[in-house]
Amino acid sequence: MLIAGNWKMNGLAGALHEAYALSQALSASPSVARVALCPPATLLARLVQAISGGPVQAGGQDCHAERDGAFTGDISAEMLADAGARLVILGHSERRTGHDETDVMVAAKVRAALRAGLEPIICVGETLVERSAGNAESIVTGQMAASLPAELRGHAFAVAYEPVWAIGSGLTPTADEIVSIHAAIRNTLRRMFDAQGPQAPILYGGSVKPANAREILNLPEVGGALVGGASLKALDFEAIIRAV
Ligand code: PEP
Repeated sequence: MLIAGNWKMNGLAGALHEAYALSQALSASPSVARVALCPPATLLARLVQAISGGPVQAGGQDCHAERDGAFTGDISAEMLADAGARLVILGHSERRTGHDETDVMVAAKVRAALRAGLEPIICVGETLVERSAGNAESIVTGQMAASLPAELRGHAFAVAYEPVWAIGSGLTPTADEIVSIHAAIRNTLRRMFDAQGPQAPILYGGSVKPANAREILNLPEVGGALVGGASLKALDFEAIIRAV
């Protein structure tokens, strides 16, 4: 199980004590889950320092496909790794919609993450319009086919199923809906990556909170969670982690 927190564009230096508190709590009473926090890039190196020696890993929220160069404002996978990141979230729907990221761009970023030795968490998910039209599964498997490059073979990675309409909305799919899409994702992973297909964890993301974590995390083929809002406070995030 991988429980990853996505702080998005939230957090100044004062937020680091939440990461420290989480690290302390999980050091004192270890979880069976692997835990990661993905803060804004400005906090990454300081967060790595704050949780150093503890069980929590750090990740980035996005990276550029190139190693370096004239890309003002961008951050490369190598820079994230240099700051102490072990993972990176790629293809989040807020990047796909807010920054026009295509599947092809996401695939290039995944290759960059592998080049830098980072473990990518690749996000896929349908909009409400797509779900209402009965296209959730085809949208998700189509995104996988185009944004998971063959180079992932032999590397550790995770897929995060994040229905766009469930992110930050308080809404979640039904248990049956989650099970059905996770099964489709697993089948697609088997088709794309043969023997490795059964291994990559499939995270669920979208309004996971302490109250619904246990039910979601116990569903078949749910290998963890990608958590936004509820990862900002150590106590809430820890309650989700303890639900594993
Ligand atoms: C996310 O940002 O990936 C996410 C799932 O957000 P939230 O948990 O706030 O819905």
